[in-house]
Amino acid sequence: MIERFTILFHYIKTKFFSSFSSREKLLAWQDRSVQKHIKRTMRKSSFYRDLYQGRQISFWREFPIIEKKEMMDHFTELNTANISKEKGFEVALKAEKMRDFSPTIKDITVGLSSGTSGNRGIFLVSPFERRKWAGNILAKTLPGRITKENKIAFFLRANSNLYNSVNKGKIKFSFFDLEEETENLISKLNDFNPNILVAPPSMLRIIAHEMESGKLSLSPDKVISVAEVLERFDEHFLEEVFNQKIHQVYQCTEGFIASTCSHGNLHLNEDLLVIQKEYIDKEKSRFFPIITDFSRKTQPIIRYRLNDILIECNDSCPCGSIFTRIQTIEGRSDDLFYGKKEDGTLVPVFPDFIRRCVLFSSDDIEEYKIIQTSPSSIDLFLSGDFNEKDVQGKIQHELLQLFSEKELMTPVLTFYPYLPEAVRTKKLRRIQRNFDVN
Ligand SMILES: [Zn+2]
Repeated sequence: MIERFTILFHYIKTKFFSSFSSREKLLAWQDRSVQKHIKRTMRKSSFYRDLYQGRQISFWREFPIIEKKEMMDHFTELNTANISKEKGFEVALKAEKMRDFSPTIKDITVGLSSGTSGNRGIFLVSPFERRKWAGNILAKTLPGRITKENKIAFFLRANSNLYNSVNKGKIKFSFFDLEEETENLISKLNDFNPNILVAPPSMLRIIAHEMESGKLSLSPDKVISVAEVLERFDEHFLEEVFNQKIHQVYQCTEGFIASTCSHGNLHLNEDLLVIQKEYIDKEKSRFFPIITDFSRKTQPIIRYRLNDILIECNDSCPCGSIFTRIQTIEGRSDDLFYGKKEDGTLVPVFPDFIRRCVLFSSDDIEEYKIIQTSPSSIDLFLSGDFNEKDVQGKIQHELLQLFSEKELMTPVLTFYPYLPEAVRTKKLRRIQRNFDVN
């Protein structure tokens, strides 16, 4: 009862009462909320107490930035639930292995955050935070009212208590485990017949192909892409098959960062967190988000840098929202390419430029993956109905031009046929760098 009430409360609050009349009012409200949150956090978390010691809270916008590494190194002192890092990992790993995602420690949900191996993290969410999250996400994604019957199919690598808290009232929520065989998933999906379909773009592609071949018949009201970057390339294909806009929820274990509005444009969820921008290009359009979630108490996230690169959009949105509009999520900083100058210095090349070189070369590319294996070599995997020599020549021309414009040494390109990823539980990254720059 309390559970349902809390979800409903946050649903209503987010959907109907968090419209700010101006940016100024929003910023002032954020400022008050963050200051209050930091004071509270410093009382309960020895990590943050030590980190902010002697600083004036009103200058929180310039406080030290932390990243995943600091968060994990100091996990025990950072969280306010007295859960040690060892215990947290033990419970989260066991849940993942057994594919049983119900275990909690003292009511607190413990989950594993995906990352490349060696870069694993855990997260903690209290029952209250869980309900608040459910209310928020429903408010921002449900196409109709919460009182309408909705069947949500949710494809993910790992389930969590977090997601089951959505399974309430008129909402039927079904978790589809990406580790299961495609055939099973498709037949389950056929039976469930959801009106809302939520999945990573790589899985949405599989579903779309099954629909095209007539093996699956679905007519969802809303399709939402999660967990991977939705490339324009995949978006077009999916829009065509599903015959509607593809929506996006951009959320990670650190927070529910952005979601699409009714017009299908991405907006930062500035009613839920503060997102500061660390610009990384001269034009000031690309940035790393520095996030502060002023309502998360169990595992406080304050001035935390995500390694995703976002591209800002300065146009106002027809939906009227004053929340910052995002043109696209470009990808992770780990996937920045690097070119070499003659003097040996390495210069970053944004994934979007690489992507454009390839996609401008042919309309007939069906799948692609580009991996930079060293500053002087790039492997390209392509499939589609095109003349190989032709397309390879064009891509070569485009990429070499890009590198020479930036006065970078010419990389060696090697072409291969594209093979679907054998392991579907890995995140699809179409642009990837396979070497360290430091
Ligand atoms: Zn909008």
